Amino acid sequence: MIDKERMTEHVMDIIKIDSLSRKEKDVALKLQKDMEEIGAECFYDDAGEKVNGNVGNLIVKLEGNKPDAPPFFLSAHMDTVGPGEGIKPRIEDGIIKSDGTTILGSDDKSGIAVIVETIRAIKENGVAHGDIEIAFTICEEIGLLGSKHIDMSKFRARHGIVLDSSTPDRLVLRCPSADHLEFTVHGLEAHAGLCPENGISAIQITSEAISNMRLGRIDDYTTANIGVISGGRATNIIPNQVRVVGEARSHDEETLKEQVNHMRKCFHEAVSNYEVTLHDGLSAEGTTYVAKLDEIIERSYDRMDVDIKSLPVVLVEAAVKNLGYTIKRHTSGGGCDANYFNKFGIECANLGTGMYDLHTVNEYLVLEEFYRSAEIMLEAIRLNTKIPS
Ligand SMILES: [Zn+2]
Repeated sequence: MIDKERMTEHVMDIIKIDSLSRKEKDVALKLQKDMEEIGAECFYDDAGEKVNGNVGNLIVKLEGNKPDAPPFFLSAHMDTVGPGEGIKPRIEDGIIKSDGTTILGSDDKSGIAVIVETIRAIKENGVAHGDIEIAFTICEEIGLLGSKHIDMSKFRARHGIVLDSSTPDRLVLRCPSADHLEFTVHGLEAHAGLCPENGISAIQITSEAISNMRLGRIDDYTTANIGVISGGRATNIIPNQVRVVGEARSHDEETLKEQVNHMRKCFHEAVSNYEVTLHDGLSAEGTTYVAKLDEIIERSYDRMDVDIKSLPVVLVEAAVKNLGYTIKRHTSGGGCDANYFNKFGIECANLGTGMYDLHTVNEYLVLEEFYRSAEIMLEAIRLNTKIPS
């Protein structure tokens, strides 16, 4: 029932439409047209205004031909990371890849194309289905902002699938909580050659803090990273300010709290080691300057942990079995829109679409897995009509 040729053509078409985060409008308009052509109702929420983007989340509703079946939810994100402008996809030996100068954007255009083809095939073949509600989200790549600000009043569905992970061999049930950390270290500026003893180096403090920090993989379920350091102006100036941005993630809230506190403590301790007293004539004892720290700790998103007896899991596993494939339950180290949907009351697992080496110019899409993902979705939606609503 899945039309592989049409599905391939569609994913190639939407990959060619640039859609960096906050600039998803062009691809949204194309999807709106595709969905309206098959008789679905489309509208946008106000998430775009809230995050300063050029369009909101595209919400699509397709009325079921089995009104007694429970509504089913589907989602994929429209934005991509960079370098993602002027992508030139090409098909080679069963995979799609870019020309090597940009990402491919199969993350998450493949998820979108799986949804669109599933809906097209369902309509074309008169497959039994309940109401289908779709969220094509914005700004997933910059902190799940589209799903965070989605207008939940537009949805009736209480279960469904997000299509935004690597392989349909796996169904992602668990994603971690994540905290965002920002530290600004304030030292004291001085001429590095004439009077370095009059300065406090914010770079030195920062290095001390980070060198004492546990980073990378902390345990099976916890990771931490310092991703950005900026500061300093010239080699002959003792730097007075450094900004450091990092993150910590865990499937366990207690461990996450411990890790974040550990990272904070490293900065607090390093900062407390630095002060300088200047005899500047203001007073006999001189003036003492101490290093200072500003910190911002914010929750990026809460963890998800989908019950193995929940409908998304039961439906996908039954569909996979009916089709003669296999699938494993998976715990991921990354967050996705499903983190928010689960939090907001739509139980969602995350099914892979065949995309690999994401967020690099080597990203590629395995066509066999991509088609399989759509077959699984179609069968799961058909099975969903057999559930009493
Ligand atoms: Zn993605």
